[in-house]
Amino acid sequence: MNATPDSLSRRFDKSFTQQEPIPEDAIAAAVDVMRSGRLHRYNVKSDEDTSHTAALEAAFARYQGVEHCIACASGGYAMQLALRAAGVSQGDAVLSNAFTLSPVPGAIVAVGGKPVFVETTMDLVIDLADLEARARATSARYLLLSHMRGHIVDMDAIVALCDSLNLTLIEDCAHTMGATFDGKRSGTHGTLGCFSTQTYKHINSGEGGFVTTDDPEVAARLVLMSGSYMLYARHRAAPDAATMENHRLLMPNLSGRMDELRASILHVQLDALDNNAQRWNEREAAIANAIRDINHISLPTVHPLAQEVRSSIQFLVPGRSATEIRDLVSRCNARGVELKWFGDDTPRAYTSRYSHWQYVDSPVLPATDEMLSTLIDMRIPLSFSVQDCELIGEILREELQAG
Ligand SMILES: *Cc1c(COP(=O)(O)O)cnc(C)c1O
Repeated sequence: MNATPDSLSRRFDKSFTQQEPIPEDAIAAAVDVMRSGRLHRYNVKSDEDTSHTAALEAAFARYQGVEHCIACASGGYAMQLALRAAGVSQGDAVLSNAFTLSPVPGAIVAVGGKPVFVETTMDLVIDLADLEARARATSARYLLLSHMRGHIVDMDAIVALCDSLNLTLIEDCAHTMGATFDGKRSGTHGTLGCFSTQTYKHINSGEGGFVTTDDPEVAARLVLMSGSYMLYARHRAAPDAATMENHRLLMPNLSGRMDELRASILHVQLDALDNNAQRWNEREAAIANAIRDINHISLPTVHPLAQEVRSSIQFLVPGRSATEIRDLVSRCNARGVELKWFGDDTPRAYTSRYSHWQYVDSPVLPATDEMLSTLIDMRIPLSFSVQDCELIGEILREELQAG
């Protein structure tokens, strides 16, 4: 007979990369689009007809409480458009968190910018003092602030700092769609907000993205660069005709439109976003509560004004060696709990270590390295129930206490 105590043999057997199905009414909308044959956003019967994409842009602008929204091909593409529309050109320094995902430095490099990574705190947010020092040292004029894994820095402090340093603030909200700071939507604190509708974010169209802004000149550039041709009058969240005319012959077409199929399945999901945000937070709380008081575990502190969407969980295991952390990850894995260790020297699946992006010439960032060396990450798809998350929490607790 197996000598392992019952509790330690309990396994979790659902997939950490399995999202919920697309809602039936979204599927019906997509089927209608396919039956119509009109999959291109500008392929409407007359200028008066609104496409799914234009309606979705208007709905997302309303949700965010902003004037303008442009839907596009991906979150990474959204950031490229935003950087260009903000004025980044060849050789410009662009500040960004060192702890982020590779599409962030990728977007900066794609527009000819030079990423300048900023230190990360133990609460997984950008270090304000280091931001100020690097902004002054490089004379950078742009900050692409990544709310990595949904952790929101003190936005009042960031906005004040950007004002005093004359930095244009662009928010990467790939993990904060639906989140707020001091009651204000993430993505509306700076000049531009960038969002992703990729499968592992908060609404799912496989790939896709949005850029939002209140600035009509910036919005005109975004619309034209996204590939509107001279059909921009078919938008519903674009600037007025006069503003568009000022820009229409000056902007390169960087073709990266959203299509009707994706837009048709996103609209229904947007309506469910606030409710889903709560569902995510309940699930994360179930896991966090199981491990919070274990010795030598630290969960990042959430800013009291931040209302986050916790679609993943992070914790630090300070004091453990690389070998011990590898052992912990593989013991959890063996019980079906898939953890990601950001301290791994080898880039696996995806990586958030700036040293793995060797196309960027960055100095060593000791605080970020220290934080990453014991950082564990876990996805929480909504296909998990709260009970599932309680079981995950128990397994984590047992393995964290076992060594
Ligand atoms: C996913 C992600 C993006 C954008 O991703 P796409 O896959 O291009 O939509 C941007 N920033 C962060 C932090 C992300 O995790």
